[in-house]
Amino acid sequence: MRTLLCIAVGLIALSSRAEKVSLVGGTVINPADGKVLPNATIVINGNKIERVAMGKQDAAELGKQIGCAGKFILPGYIDTHVHFFQSADLFTRPDGADFNSVRPYQDEVAWIKSHLDDVFARYIRCGITSVVDVGGPMWNFEVRKKANAMQKAPRVAVAGPLISSVSREKLDLGDPPIVKIDTPDQAREFVRKLAEQKPDLVKIWYIVDKDHPVDSFRPIVRAAIEESHAHKIRVAVHATELETARAAVEEGADVLVHSVTDKPVDDMFVKLLRDRHVILCPTLVVFERYGRTFSHQLNLTTEEQKWGNPEVVASLDVTKIPQDKLPDRVKTALADPKAALDKINKTYEVALPNLKKLEDAGVTIAAGTDAGNIGTIHGPALFREFQLMKEAGLTPMQILQCATANAAKLFGGETGAHIGQIESGYFADLVVLNSNPLEDIAHASDIDKVIKNGVSYPADSILH
Ligand SMILES: [Zn+2]
Repeated sequence: MRTLLCIAVGLIALSSRAEKVSLVGGTVINPADGKVLPNATIVINGNKIERVAMGKQDAAELGKQIGCAGKFILPGYIDTHVHFFQSADLFTRPDGADFNSVRPYQDEVAWIKSHLDDVFARYIRCGITSVVDVGGPMWNFEVRKKANAMQKAPRVAVAGPLISSVSREKLDLGDPPIVKIDTPDQAREFVRKLAEQKPDLVKIWYIVDKDHPVDSFRPIVRAAIEESHAHKIRVAVHATELETARAAVEEGADVLVHSVTDKPVDDMFVKLLRDRHVILCPTLVVFERYGRTFSHQLNLTTEEQKWGNPEVVASLDVTKIPQDKLPDRVKTALADPKAALDKINKTYEVALPNLKKLEDAGVTIAAGTDAGNIGTIHGPALFREFQLMKEAGLTPMQILQCATANAAKLFGGETGAHIGQIESGYFADLVVLNSNPLEDIAHASDIDKVIKNGVSYPADSILH
């Protein structure tokens, strides 16, 4: 039955691609240049936007008309930091909290691989028509292939396995997402191997602690970036301390995949990012989700409860796990939830002003969540990210720009050059809202329909 239904939907999608469709009478918001066009018409021809115009149009030129009076139309959202190899459930990072005795990690990975279509659909439900997977096993490249061949899936850009300063054996089932690299030569060799898969990005996991100081891994960072750039591949770096992030950018990093969370960014750092056109993805939501989940203080948003995978959401209640099977990290958090919340607040006291400072200085900020990590729900986590960006002091238009035009730059390549804007020649990836997101960014989730590659999906039909 399910197969039949899919075939039927596929046929409708194919036939609708042949004809011209116009969205008529809505308010078009184009965050790329901040322009708002009331009573506008968007003409879609096949999978591309043919033109956008204001006022009354010649009906003969419009093809099938879809009335959008009272609606607000945006480019499809882009989440620039997700991980398809993680489900966001409690068992998805045994290196951080080992629940193998409750659910073996290989069962978790098998579940993830069998639920990719479901995850893709949840992104579309949330108006997210493109995502960047910034690191996972080699099978990530298959995920990209699968998503990019499907209608009801976001466009996907990927990095392969992470080049890391530390190892994570518990994630290694033969195709590890994180690979410890010890020498510059090893780094170059690994990048050459990755290059065969044509990654959209190479990702470096620049983890620093007392046993792994900034400078000891720096030559490996340098070699990995040099080799990637020689293959014309951009490099994204996880570096959450100011000095680690600075070192990464000085060595040529193109993207920082998280906020700096240990101290306020200084003017030199801000200038460095601006001068080198580095894109920063803040991932604010993920900073609260491990701590809140483990201390049983998780407060998922309405969107996450409605549009997150129900099995994933249900797993996040740690009180359902027998006491003797709780990892120490979770026991500690449960014993003192206030300490867990204080730690989260401390992170935000640094990360939110840092985001505001970078945004004000004109650094390119791309919205992203780190979805797939424990408690950070694939799809709707982006709306919690918007709330936190608002708390940092960004305006609705700035937030929307981060989630569309700026995010398209991070996505990169030919596809990146044709998403994130409502302009002729761009892909017809659009979100139609019932209420004005410029009045309140919370309206960004008040979705009437989603259009991906010229195919329109009524929002309520997507997950049923
Ligand atoms: Zn990540």
